[in-house]
Amino acid sequence: MEFIELHDVHKTYQIGELEVPVLKGVSLNVRRGEFIALTGASGSGKSTLMNILGCLDRPSAGQYFLDGQDVMSLSLEQRALLRNRKVGFVFQNFNLLPRTSALDNVMMPLAYTALPQREAQQRARSLLERVGLGDRLDHHPSQLSGGQQQRVAIARAIINHPALLFADEPTGNLDTRTSEEILRMFQQLNRDEGLTIILVTHESEVARHAQRVIHLRDGRIDY
Ligand code: ADP
Ligand code: MG
Repeated sequence: MEFIELHDVHKTYQIGELEVPVLKGVSLNVRRGEFIALTGASGSGKSTLMNILGCLDRPSAGQYFLDGQDVMSLSLEQRALLRNRKVGFVFQNFNLLPRTSALDNVMMPLAYTALPQREAQQRARSLLERVGLGDRLDHHPSQLSGGQQQRVAIARAIINHPALLFADEPTGNLDTRTSEEILRMFQQLNRDEGLTIILVTHESEVARHAQRVIHLRDGRIDY
């Protein structure tokens, strides 16, 4: 079985009386260690698909297996547990806690684990060093550039050693040079850690950093 197997997944949002079909039969296999770009025009369903793959949301119909687990059969709680153990997320707006140090932001996902505080700090520190922010541990997000904030967010996303990392338009708020740095960091994590990465973007210039591009058009994969 592949790492990710998605069979004929549909997602329909209900807005009042209105049914809005957003995903219209998406099937997809991903091997462990792949670096994939999920592209498509705005509104094509990229974030919806990412939320399903990342176990943040459920399909309306279809099947989803993640690392051999039938995600559709899990309870809300079991799904959250699976997500905490296996999945990391990076977003366009960094989503860091304000007035909180880089170190504490990175440590945040460990609050729900049994890891002792000292070790949590040690792990966060070494990850921040790894993303080039070893001299910014005490800085708050407002004291960091966009690129630096995104690196803090990446360190936070991988502190639980996820097998799967999602990045939704991670360079959308960054200039070209900083975007390139961030994309190289994803490539490095993919290569060195074997991390499976799904990068959501509407920009082909960003998508070309991945090994395989999956294009969504109006809720379907466009082959
Ligand atoms: P993309 O990320 O490719 O821009 P999205 O997955 O965010 O696309 O959205 C696809 C479509 O689904 C859009 O038309 C959007 O308005 C709609 N949509 C997304 N989330 C919801 C929601 N929670 N309720 C209703 N409609 C939604
Ligand atoms: Mg989106």
